[in-house]
Amino acid sequence: LKENNGRLMWHPMTSPQDSIDSPPKIVTEGHGVRIKDIDGHEVVDAVGGLWNVNLGYSCQPVKDAIAAQLDRLPYYSTFRGTSNDAAIELSYELAQFFAPDGLSRAFFTSGGSDSVETALRLARQYHKLRGEPGRVKFLSLKKGYHGTHMGGASVNGNANFRTAYEPLLPGCYHIPAPYTYRNPLNETDPERLAQLCVQALEDEIAFQGPTTIAAMIMEPILGAGGVIPPHASFAPMVRDICDRNGILLITDEVITAYGRTGAWSGARLWGIQPDMMATAKAITNGYFPFGAVMLGEKMIETFENNAAAKIGHGYTYSGHPVGAAAALACLAETQRLNVIDNAAARGTQLYEGCKALMEKYDVIGDVRGGHGLMTAIEMVSDRDTKAPDAASGALVQEVAYQNGAMVRVSGPNLILSPPLILTEDDASVILGALDKGFAAL
Ligand code: PMP
Repeated sequence: LKENNGRLMWHPMTSPQDSIDSPPKIVTEGHGVRIKDIDGHEVVDAVGGLWNVNLGYSCQPVKDAIAAQLDRLPYYSTFRGTSNDAAIELSYELAQFFAPDGLSRAFFTSGGSDSVETALRLARQYHKLRGEPGRVKFLSLKKGYHGTHMGGASVNGNANFRTAYEPLLPGCYHIPAPYTYRNPLNETDPERLAQLCVQALEDEIAFQGPTTIAAMIMEPILGAGGVIPPHASFAPMVRDICDRNGILLITDEVITAYGRTGAWSGARLWGIQPDMMATAKAITNGYFPFGAVMLGEKMIETFENNAAAKIGHGYTYSGHPVGAAAALACLAETQRLNVIDNAAARGTQLYEGCKALMEKYDVIGDVRGGHGLMTAIEMVSDRDTKAPDAASGALVQEVAYQNGAMVRVSGPNLILSPPLILTEDDASVILGALDKGFAAL
C-alpha cells in the first residue's frame, strides 16, 4: 500500500502529479469522531469525512441496519412497477421529517451530484408540464458548489470547476453571493449586501426575461465555497423573488440538511420553504452512497395530477434498499440524539475558538461560521489588502494533523465540519491543533 501510495488511482479535485509528489494520507480505521491512518496515527476528524459523517464512524444502529438489509434483500430496483420496502418506508419517514419545510415526496438518488441533476431536470419538466417550455435557464450563486455532473457543473459558481469541461449547459447565470468579507458589490454591511445581491438577482431575471428561467438553485450556507452564511434576510428575499416570477427555488442542502447548521435543514434555519431540496451526504452519514430530492406542493400538484407526467430520469441505485436501510437508521439516530443542539453548542465553541486564533495570528483574515458545525478560517497574506493566501494552508494542516486533528484545506480556507457528536474536549483538541499549526507558520 505504501509503495503504491495511491498513484494508481486518480483522486478527485487533485492533479495526478500532486498525488505523486505529496502522497495522500491513507486512512485505515474510524472510531467515534476519530480516524486512524496507515501508520497508526489517530486524530479527531474535523472534516467529518467530507461534511457527511455526522454521527461518527461507530454508529452501531446504522451498521446493524445495513447488515440486516444485506442479509434480507441486498438490492431491488424501484423502476417501472417494482419497488422495495426499505425505500418506501424511508419515503414515509422523510415526508414526516421534512414536513415543516413543505416537502412531502422523495426522489431517491445515489449522491449529491445526482440529487442536484435530478432537481434541475425535474424543474425543466415541471415547466413543460405547465405549458411553459421556454423556461429552461438556471440561476445560482457565485462561489456556490453543486456537484460535478454536467448540469451541476454548469450552475457551479466557481469557474475552476467549469472551464475544463466546457461547453456546459447553456443558459446558466451566476449571481454575486452575499460574501461580506470580500464585499463583491462594495458593501460591507451584511444586510445591505444581501439586498444588493438580491437586486442583482432581480436585474438578471429582468435581463433574461422571467419566463425563460426554470429555477434558482442555492446552498442556504455556501459550503465548499468557503462557509459563507448570508444575512438572515437573504433567503426569504430570494424566495419572494422566485415566487413573483414563477421561478422554482431549489435549495442544495447536500451539506446543510439533517442538522449540520444547528437546524434540521438550511431552509428551516432561514424560515423558507423551497420547491425542491437536494440532499445526500448525512442522509446515510457516509455509510452508503445515497441521496434524496425532496419535493414540495407545486411539484406534487403538477406531477401527480397529470397522467403524461412520466419521469424519464432515474438511477439503477435510486432507492437502493441498503442505502434506504442506512438512511432510516441514520434518521432515527439523528433525531434520538437531537444532534442539532450539540451541533449548535460545539459550533459556537469552534467559531469562538477560531475567532480567538484570529486575535493571535495575522494570517487569519476572516472567520466564518456561527451556524452549527460549519466553520471556515480564511487566510490572507496581508490583512489590509486581503490578498488571499492559498499557500500556508498545507503547513497548518500538516502540523494540526501531527497534533491531533484532520482539517481541510480549500484554497485560502481551512474548513471545519466535524461530526455532530463532537464533545467539548474533541473541539478543544481541534482548536489546540490549529493553534500549533498557525504557530508553526
Ligand atoms: N452540492 C453540494 C452543496 C455539495 O457540497 C456537494 C458535495 N460536496 C455536492 C452537491 C455533490 O455531492 P456528491 O459529491 O455526493 O456528488
